[in-house]
Amino acid sequence: MKQENAGLYIHIPFCLSKCGYCSFYSVGSVYLVPEYIAALKKEIKQYRGKFTSFDTIYFGGGTPSLLTPKQLIEILTSIYEYFNIDADAEITMEANPGDICSEYLSNLREIGFNRLNIGAQSFSDKILKLLGRRHSAREAIASIDASRKAGFHNLGIDLIYGVHGLGIKSWEKTLQQAVSFALEHISCYQLSLDEKTPLYKEYNSAGWSLPDERTELKFFLTTDEELTKNGYIHYEVSNFARKEKFKSRHNQKYWQHTPYLGLGPAANSFLNNKRWWNRTSVKDYIKEIASGKIPVENSEKLSAEELQLETLFLGLRTQAGINLKKFKARFGVDLPLARKSMIDALVINNLVELKDGFLRPTVRGMAVADSLALI
Ligand code: SF4
Repeated sequence: MKQENAGLYIHIPFCLSKCGYCSFYSVGSVYLVPEYIAALKKEIKQYRGKFTSFDTIYFGGGTPSLLTPKQLIEILTSIYEYFNIDADAEITMEANPGDICSEYLSNLREIGFNRLNIGAQSFSDKILKLLGRRHSAREAIASIDASRKAGFHNLGIDLIYGVHGLGIKSWEKTLQQAVSFALEHISCYQLSLDEKTPLYKEYNSAGWSLPDERTELKFFLTTDEELTKNGYIHYEVSNFARKEKFKSRHNQKYWQHTPYLGLGPAANSFLNNKRWWNRTSVKDYIKEIASGKIPVENSEKLSAEELQLETLFLGLRTQAGINLKKFKARFGVDLPLARKSMIDALVINNLVELKDGFLRPTVRGMAVADSLALI
């Protein structure tokens, strides 16, 4: 069987400072970058011939925009040397607003990046300060403007809601401001706080709490309403695209069990129902590669039941939902028949709809998508 075009994820695990809410692993200084790139190039070579072809490349982090154009070229040259990359590939970079000047952005375009996702998070200095971001609202806006001028026609931003001091009205204004830039893609995430993060501690000592369920739902529905009325497609719980063609091709691979290869520390990969993930520490990753090993921490082969549950879980997070014919062909399960009473209850509660051979979440269903998969 011909393998589908896979997605390639390149992890850049460096951040100049740590955002207060972030529980991801990253290194706070860039002195290891040259050594890291050398290791990454070797890991790229290790996977030569393992995946037929890729039609997306995604540089995520961490903060990929800390790399110089020369360093990015070095990585991309290796990628093109060892992998088949579709001529029409979507090539994305996640960028921090404070890092990207006009010259840097023009360089990115010349190197081949055709999609940019800016971690704006908010247009309020007060909120950005609380989140511990190292950029200002002015820089966030300037980076959008500069990206346009540099020729990025597939431009997205990330925003965060549910932050202390951000009421529904201010959030609506944030969304309206985002809409005013006619961005191709907007991701809206609800703040969540891991107990180990500084912001969690700050919340505790200030006696603040995250929004309760009702308020959470209000934020979620406001986001949906504000963006869909302005023409955006709410295609996944947190993701909105201005047109079909602006949906993140790369991220859709994660939701559809399409093969993907993740390179760099902590990166995940998926192929032929097997998932594996790399060591988290940059130093361990570099050491493993230097000694000629593959830096994989562990792997798992997903059973048919696990795959089925994941298909439900991931599918019910997307507007496209679950194609019942394909589900039956893949797992031998007639979903509406096998889970009839539960699906009926969800339909009555307006959380899912069964239509045209698909089981789809409604907007309210998307708001509680994680629990829908338990049907
Ligand atoms: S830039 Fe991203 S990865 Fe780095 S500390 Fe902030 S939230 Fe975490």
